[in-house]
Amino acid sequence: MRQLIRNIAIFDGTGSPPAPGAVVVEGDKIAAILHDDAAISAVEADVVIDGQGGTLIPGMVDAHTHLTWGSSVEKIYHQFILPPEELKVAAWRNARVLLDHGYTSLYSAGALGDQIEPELARAIEAGETPGPRLVPSTLERSPEGEEGVETGDVFNGRGPDAMRAFVAYCAGEGVKSLKLVISGEDALKPGSSADILYTDAEMQAAGEAAREAGLWIATHAYTPRAIALALEAGARILYHCSFADDAAIDAMAARKDQIFYAPGPGVSVAALEASPPPHIDMSSMKASAAERLELERALVPKLKAKGVRVLPGGDYGFPFNPHGRNARDLEHFVTYYGFTPAQALSAATMLGGQLMGQQVGQVKPGYLADLLLVDGDPTQDVRIMQDPNHIKMIMLGGHLHKSPVPQPVNA
Ligand SMILES: [Zn+2]
Repeated sequence: MRQLIRNIAIFDGTGSPPAPGAVVVEGDKIAAILHDDAAISAVEADVVIDGQGGTLIPGMVDAHTHLTWGSSVEKIYHQFILPPEELKVAAWRNARVLLDHGYTSLYSAGALGDQIEPELARAIEAGETPGPRLVPSTLERSPEGEEGVETGDVFNGRGPDAMRAFVAYCAGEGVKSLKLVISGEDALKPGSSADILYTDAEMQAAGEAAREAGLWIATHAYTPRAIALALEAGARILYHCSFADDAAIDAMAARKDQIFYAPGPGVSVAALEASPPPHIDMSSMKASAAERLELERALVPKLKAKGVRVLPGGDYGFPFNPHGRNARDLEHFVTYYGFTPAQALSAATMLGGQLMGQQVGQVKPGYLADLLLVDGDPTQDVRIMQDPNHIKMIMLGGHLHKSPVPQPVNA
């Protein structure tokens, strides 16, 4: 099937300003981008979509997603750990909620249950449930299970062999990216972000085994030492990195073509804004959030200036930070990190596509037709991406998840 989307301005994901034109979609891919009126009129299409002067942009990518963190704009859970059946329901719902909000690709930063994400990724791909493209993961690994969530005996334990066993387990499960918690987490245990949870030998073993199995590594890392360990293991993406010093910045910059970085401002801003009920103590979370935001305000522009790919997304799914609000990260990139709206949008699309390792994130011939039609120009005000009412069309691989009422040519 050939679809023509016309009467639009095209933001192609690279950061260039939107340009008037039309896009031809053939099957699941973008076939052509046309700027000439005569060429546009000559296209023979099965379906013509009138964009009504809106902006066509690539679907957005969230670089640090936890689909099993239950809360979304549709349903808030006040407990963090859900019973197994509810966990699956929540993950499947959250995938659909994210797609409804313009996210067509997700890179998982770990799950609270086994098998859930590989199964969900397969079901999405088979068209059994609506959701974005998903790089699935499983339980986040920390050596003793004392940081974050108890991961069980299979995953704990020390030494290179324990790491290799975890990687083999992930490969068997159908995981694509495994998550290693290298630093502690101040929001959960004050002061623990300075803790280092793995040795060089363990990280090297994990890196080797992951490369052999064709798996990617995502890392929770705060300090220079944790960043060094992540880089040593060949991590694809590093999260947080708030306490990076100049040497760590240089080390990340030296690997800028291999790595991605997602600071995750959304959870920090939302934690500071939250006014929890009296029985919920968020004081350490708020203190950590304020410190991190301040550090990242200086850090992120330095990394960006050195060409490190900085991506939005991160840690949505708390009651105060539900899935569906993810596009707030784009505004935070502008407010806290000095990005222009077009740069923030490019990070969420083109750079996100590079992270996914698929031909997504750009409006470009040969790329998958993951496209959003936005009522307005997000390169002028990126906040409009936060309101799904402004997203008039959501296309995933040429399939309309949200239709702007396409008109058959011969009607
Ligand atoms: Zn996370």
